[in-house]
Amino acid sequence: MRMTSRTRTRSGTPRWYSTRGARRSPPRSPPRLPGFALGRRYRPARCPSPRAGIVPRVEPILVFGPWSERYDLGPGHPLTPRRFGPGIDLIRAVTAAAGGGPIRELPPEPAPDTELRWVHDAGYIEVVRRFSDQPFGSWEAGIGPGDTPAFPGMHDASAAVAGGSIRAMAAILRGDTDHAVHPGGGLHHAMPGRASGFCVYDDPALAIAKARLAGLRVLYVDLDVHHGDGVQAIHLDDPGVLTLSIHQSGRTLFPGTGFVGELGAGTAAGTVFNLPMEPGTGERGWLGALRTVLPEVAATFGPDVVVSQHGADAHAWDPLANLRVTTTAMGAAARLVHAIAHRWAGGRWLATGGGGYDAYRVVPRAWAHAWLAAAHLEPPSRLPAAWRERWAGEAERYGQAPLPEWLDDEANAGLRPDGSQDAADRRAIETAALVRELAVPALVRAAGDLGWWRASVELDAGGWSGLGAPVGDGSRVATGTGDTAPGIAAPGITAPDGVIEVLDTVDAATWVGLDLASQVIAPASPAGAQQLVLAALTSPHAVRVSAAVAGGTVVGLVVSAAPGGRRLLLGLGVAPDRRRRGLAGELLRRHVDGPHGVEPWDAAVTLAERDAVEPLARDTRGAIARRLLEGAGFEVGRAGGPVGDADPGALVAHRG
Ligand SMILES: [Zn+2]
Ligand SMILES: [Zn+2]
Repeated sequence: MRMTSRTRTRSGTPRWYSTRGARRSPPRSPPRLPGFALGRRYRPARCPSPRAGIVPRVEPILVFGPWSERYDLGPGHPLTPRRFGPGIDLIRAVTAAAGGGPIRELPPEPAPDTELRWVHDAGYIEVVRRFSDQPFGSWEAGIGPGDTPAFPGMHDASAAVAGGSIRAMAAILRGDTDHAVHPGGGLHHAMPGRASGFCVYDDPALAIAKARLAGLRVLYVDLDVHHGDGVQAIHLDDPGVLTLSIHQSGRTLFPGTGFVGELGAGTAAGTVFNLPMEPGTGERGWLGALRTVLPEVAATFGPDVVVSQHGADAHAWDPLANLRVTTTAMGAAARLVHAIAHRWAGGRWLATGGGGYDAYRVVPRAWAHAWLAAAHLEPPSRLPAAWRERWAGEAERYGQAPLPEWLDDEANAGLRPDGSQDAADRRAIETAALVRELAVPALVRAAGDLGWWRASVELDAGGWSGLGAPVGDGSRVATGTGDTAPGIAAPGITAPDGVIEVLDTVDAATWVGLDLASQVIAPASPAGAQQLVLAALTSPHAVRVSAAVAGGTVVGLVVSAAPGGRRLLLGLGVAPDRRRRGLAGELLRRHVDGPHGVEPWDAAVTLAERDAVEPLARDTRGAIARRLLEGAGFEVGRAGGPVGDADPGALVAHRG
């Protein structure tokens, strides 16, 4: 779980996440929204979760207490504890305004060294302690004048941020709550052996480690404008943690990493994904990119718990970065993550804060959105007047006034979209399309593109019947529509257990009478995969399915379709306990040579084609795919273009 790290020395001038090469716009005043303009306000389709009247199984927990405000890097530092005043106050005010009850709070306490050492080096913890007592030493392990200066009591304050996220995860694992929100958490740049970018101990990585110690698989979603480099690095080699970060490109912003080609290695290849955005990307590009990738990635990975980081610094008014995201889009993103936790992770969700340097106009609204999603409360459109009155003076004093009237922003944050923003938004969608090819198996992509089955929770109201009800081990149980279609009879297929029968062609009527073993084919949930294949079989896309069946359960499967002129191989898989016996090769040969005459075939294999639960090493996967395809008469070569550049092991294959 740990990786070694190097400690870099660096001169000590403050640089506050310096942008490199990008022109930085001064903070802009928020747009004033005249009452008659209400109809122009940008309202993306709401995900169905935070409806009034839907009650969470257990009330969510807000992680906040006296320790939260002691993480204080000094006067004038952008990551100011002053944000807790208006931020926590707004969470309470909107909860009351939306009719929510009293908030369950969990106060952070310093995590013991035994827990910090899950991801941090013992030597580094000692350095932090030393600075804690003597905050004037020379620059060491990332601590010193600049981004992460020493301060008295630094160790305990930092350990308390870590402790808040760890205790929140513990509460989720115990079943005390489904959702916890830790606004003071999200210190995602901290590395095993050094502080970085305002972050001393990596609380999201530690919360993930807590879940991993319990054997759970974790999806981490990082919405901060800066790449979530610490969390990615710490869990880089662990195939049980999938990290997805959307951020301003490392070419123009700290920490200079988070490119599409960072994909993980070995067995963990395909568990690291990054969506770098060009400066000027607006809410359309940012949210569009996230929606393109996140639902299908979650469906394919099948996490047991979701951890997300909701840094508010992607906002158009943030003084340290150059994206043009709105609180509207941040709210939609929070609800999307929440919905994904319910559909694919049994509801288990820890949300943290993160960056965000417009502490009065932006951060409180971003936090409120994450909290309202977790509390299943409908976001109010207008901010409570009393909240605005309480914080107007302080906001004015710190140059972040006037306070907005609305929780959501005006379209495009009130900025005129220009040619460069249009280009950045287009680029965001192109980047997302590329990452989707690398992250999502061909079968799941085809299902989405051809309308067979959608991982997108926002478009799928069928998955919501179970919301709010106990879901048990929901990560393995689909709560969606039933797995049979009306009007299709289900003739039984029987074979003695252990004897495998290969069916060259499976039709819909046969399919509904079969069970599907785990880990045969994407998505991760067998019930979801069954629905997908059934929908494919009843589509007009000439779908062909061959199956290996043992005792009424499908233990091997091949799926192809011919939506255009050529036939596409979309998926091939065998259950773990049936592998290494030549079954996949036999299935593929019979599928390709079936009684359908000669057809031209295409196949493309990226690192998305893998067993998400027990992945083999990347090289082994590639060798097996090549051998199987060649054994079935395909000519196999390396993928070219952007896919081949990002994933040098990607293959393309043709036959006929
Ligand atoms: Zn940030
Ligand atoms: Zn919920």
